[in-house]
Amino acid sequence: MDLTNQTAIVTGGSGGIGRAICRALAEKGANVVIHYSHNEEAARETERLCRECGAETLLVQADVSDSGDCDRMFREAQKLTGRIDILVNNAGITKDNLLLMMKEEDFDRVLHVNLYGTFFCMKKASRIMLKQRYGRIISISSIVGIHGNPGQVNYAAGKAGIIGMTKSLAKELASRNVTVNAVAPGMIDTEMTASLPDTAKQAMLAGIPMGREGKAEEVAAAVAFLASGEASYITGQVLGVDGGMGC
Ligand code: NAD
Repeated sequence: MDLTNQTAIVTGGSGGIGRAICRALAEKGANVVIHYSHNEEAARETERLCRECGAETLLVQADVSDSGDCDRMFREAQKLTGRIDILVNNAGITKDNLLLMMKEEDFDRVLHVNLYGTFFCMKKASRIMLKQRYGRIISISSIVGIHGNPGQVNYAAGKAGIIGMTKSLAKELASRNVTVNAVAPGMIDTEMTASLPDTAKQAMLAGIPMGREGKAEEVAAAVAFLASGEASYITGQVLGVDGGMGC
């Protein structure tokens, strides 16, 4: 899998899975635009890891829930090489609660970051990729968007929405050599899952046939595959990386 001379933009590149994705793409030769929202120090560490692999990098701060901010992010991103070959929609948040206790503002915020953020980035990237007649759009959904999870109706709605958008956009862009796919991780060891109560963690672990959490690098490997030439005839698919949880 060779991504030499390709430029990727990864949203949420300061976080656990985002950092592993940036690193995996850089290892395969891509130049990487690392997006972050608030943790510049963590984004700089991602940048250091990518540069170790010889990648050209650029850091861009933006709130993906804001369309104007996404516009600026893509304008800045294009300054690295003039191209955007790969978009990875990875930025995401949780604000969990049972439906009867879920505040509308928590429903809204999760949808705005996870679903609208993905929509805005897909739209900006599609315009660039259509002109290039080449592109790879990969969005991080979740097993929760397929099977649901108590306490996560907002998160499940956003992640299921990403799957619907992925399949629709794949059909819109297929004739222009732009593929659009999603990766649906199960339970991955990052800060997002570190904050789960122990009982919830144990219950989830019990439902994983492989009997362990996944690693961010295992998600990143699936993303790197979908970004590569080897995946050229794959579009509109959802690739589970979940230790068998979803089968
Ligand atoms: P994380 O909290 O380490 O990373 C989340 C990233 O999203 C961070 O870089 C954060 O800065 C960014 N972000 C948050 N709000 C933002 C905003 N308004 N604008 C821009 N960026 C924003 O979590 P992670 O586990 O690495 O999650 C990465 C992705 O993987 C998320 O979309 C998450 O939903 C998804 N996912 C995670 C798991 C898991 O078990 N960890 C499972 C399935 C899916």
